[in-house]
Amino acid sequence: MPRIECRACGRHIAAGPVAGRLSKGRLWRHDPPEGRNLYDGSLVSCPGSLSIVDLPLPTRQLEFTDEAMEDAGDADAMSLF
Ligand SMILES: [Zn+2]
Repeated sequence: MPRIECRACGRHIAAGPVAGRLSKGRLWRHDPPEGRNLYDGSLVSCPGSLSIVDLPLPTRQLEFTDEAMEDAGDADAMSLF
């Protein structure tokens, strides 16, 4: 999973996919940078938890061009001789 910088605390947090939105992710819940002491030991999430963030686009696969396919066809034809 990609790690995206949280806008609230600046840490890099794993982002899970958002259904129906390929370019968006939701930051996983994480503790605030101050830790739990600030909130008297109770469990508190960073305000940036579960926020929607932009995901880096996945690397695209190389696609065959028509030219490449023609070259491959020629090579196959030549191997028949
Ligand atoms: Zn955060």
